[in-house]
Amino acid sequence: MTETPADLSDLSDLRVLAVFAHPDDEGFGCGGTLAMLVARGAHVTLVCATNGDVGEISDPSLATPETLAHVRQEELRSAMRITGVPDVRFLGYRDSGMAGTEDNNHPDALCQARPDSVVGRLTDVINEVQPSVLLTHDPTGGYGHPDHVAVYDLTTRAFQQAIESGDAGQTLLYYVCFPRSAFNRMWQQMLEAGITPPFASELVDTVGSPDDAVTTTLNVAAYVDTKIASLECHRTQIDPTGPFSQLPQDLMRENMSTEYFTLAYPEGAASDEDILTGLV
Ligand SMILES: [Zn+2]
Repeated sequence: MTETPADLSDLSDLRVLAVFAHPDDEGFGCGGTLAMLVARGAHVTLVCATNGDVGEISDPSLATPETLAHVRQEELRSAMRITGVPDVRFLGYRDSGMAGTEDNNHPDALCQARPDSVVGRLTDVINEVQPSVLLTHDPTGGYGHPDHVAVYDLTTRAFQQAIESGDAGQTLLYYVCFPRSAFNRMWQQMLEAGITPPFASELVDTVGSPDDAVTTTLNVAAYVDTKIASLECHRTQIDPTGPFSQLPQDLMRENMSTEYFTLAYPEGAASDEDILTGLV
């Protein structure tokens, strides 16, 4: 019998709940971590708050504005089949769009939903899944999309309610981060390759998470192929001429091989309580 290396320990007792705003938000920030957790036997449930209804459509043969919500649901299901996550749930809200756009006013938009109602639905999922690890957006929402920030806030409130009712006392709450130094490094790589970064480079010091918010850094290089294959399922969201597609593959793989988190609860947890760090 071969001995199982410590870093491939069996995680079949670990339940993980990930809550994000749009189909594809799971991929860049923690797709490698999800693949690693699944590969080691953890049970992962993914909740997607909206259907990404107002995202870009990279190729008009893939979807129309009318079909995009359905197409993106299927893209997420395909992506999660590659990652190995069978339990994918949609809350069904409409994508609120970027701040200040007309989509903010749509009655089905996440930003129009009663917060208590969304929190109640998320609390029900937490109570059902009883996760050991809860993952969601960080307070900055990465690049500040209002739905990302809302899902951070609503999930955190749902978690607090579950804690108060005694159902989540053992759960670790992690926020998925994009540290500013990592953004900066990628923007610099783009500039050196003659590519215009997606945000004006003078904004780079305001997007993403402050570096000192990062408590937990994972090297997911062993899962980066799965991460990329999973991300490629979000076909409507991949612009072949966009800055991320233009970055040389080896640099993109390098950027995707590290994932960052804030262990938010328990606050100030000792490093040996940090389940994710202990897995690498
Ligand atoms: Zn998003």
